[in-house]
Amino acid sequence: MKRTQRCPKCNGRKLWVIDTFRVPGESAAGAVLPVVTHQEQSTGRFSLGRSVPQGSFNLWLCDACGYSELWAEKISGLRHDPAAGVRCVDTTPDPEGPFR
Ligand SMILES: [Zn+2]
Repeated sequence: MKRTQRCPKCNGRKLWVIDTFRVPGESAAGAVLPVVTHQEQSTGRFSLGRSVPQGSFNLWLCDACGYSELWAEKISGLRHDPAAGVRCVDTTPDPEGPFR
């Protein structure tokens, strides 16, 4: 939807975009819905021992049928941490691999 500017379900062309999707919170504006609620922050090899929310979402919504998509952004701080339920599945081919 974001790429084609059309709804993939009904082909609708009137779309709403809610930048930085929020959920009800303590402030009137609500709270930003993070991609990961708390992930330990690190700088290079060293963990800072501080957990912070990571990422946010933009919501794309079709005016005609209501179909919606969430697109994550600001995810450069995500860390592969299976114990915390955050896994990176990277199938990018190795540029030094045998099929260059
Ligand atoms: Zn639609």
